Amino acid sequence: MIFVFLGPPGCGKGSQAQILSEKLGIKAFSAGDLLRQEIAEKTSIGLQVKAVIEQGHYVSDQLIWDLVCLHVNSYKDQDIILDGFPRTIGQAELLSEWSKTETGADFPGATGACAKRLDPVGTGIQNIAMDPGSAPYGLVREDSLLAVYFDIDAAILLERILHRTMCAQCGAIYNLKTHPPKQSSICDVCGSTEFKTRADDAAEVFKQRLQQDMTKSKPVVAFFEARGLLCKVDASKDISTVTEQVLSIMSRESHGAY
Ligand SMILES: [Zn+2]
Repeated sequence: MIFVFLGPPGCGKGSQAQILSEKLGIKAFSAGDLLRQEIAEKTSIGLQVKAVIEQGHYVSDQLIWDLVCLHVNSYKDQDIILDGFPRTIGQAELLSEWSKTETGADFPGATGACAKRLDPVGTGIQNIAMDPGSAPYGLVREDSLLAVYFDIDAAILLERILHRTMCAQCGAIYNLKTHPPKQSSICDVCGSTEFKTRADDAAEVFKQRLQQDMTKSKPVVAFFEARGLLCKVDASKDISTVTEQVLSIMSRESHGAY
C-alpha cells in the first residue's frame, strides 16, 4: 500500500511521515530529500535535474517520477509513505499507473535506471498477510494507493509560523504556544538565552507561499478524491493526536497490519 501524505506547508506531514516510518518500521520517502540527495551525489538523474533547474526551467513530471521510482520501485510490495509527491496531476497519474502494475514488471512509465533496479523477491510477505489467498506476485491491485490529506486552516498555520522561534546558539526550534522551552527563555538543549524570531514580513511571505501551494495542490487533492482514494485528518490537533488519526487510517487500509 502506498500512502501519499498531502497538505499545505507547515501542516506537519513531514514530521508525521518520520514518526510513522519509525513506529511502523516502513519506509518514508520525501521527494525533496531524494532530489537533494541525487543532486549531491551527482547521479545521472541528479545531474539532469540540476541542469534543468539551473536553466530556470521546471523539472518535468517524467523526470521527477524517474527519480522517485528509482527509490520506491523495489518497495512495491511493502507499505510506504510518500511525502511531497505527487505534486502535479501528471505525477499522480504516473504513480497511479505504477501502483497497478504487476510486481516485478518493468514499468512503462519509468525510463532508464528505474526498471533495472527491481527487487521482486522477498517483499511479498506483507501482502500475503494483508490479503490472504491472493498471489504475492502478478497481483494487480486497484486499491493500493491512498492519499491522506492533512487538513488545517490557513489561519492556524499562520499562527504556528508566527510563534516559532529558534535558539540563536544551537538552532533548536520552539513554538512559544505549543512547544515552548521548559524554562522560559532558556534553550532546553544548550542553555542559551538568545532566541531568533522571524522578521515581521515572514507572515506575508508565508501567506503567499501558502496561497501558491494551495492553488497548485488542489488538482492533486481532487485527483485522489474523485477516485475515492482520499482520507482527511485534522492536522490542527497536537502531534500525537494527528499520529493516532493517521495510524488508524493506515491500520484500517492495511487490514489491521498495524
Ligand atoms: Zn540552544
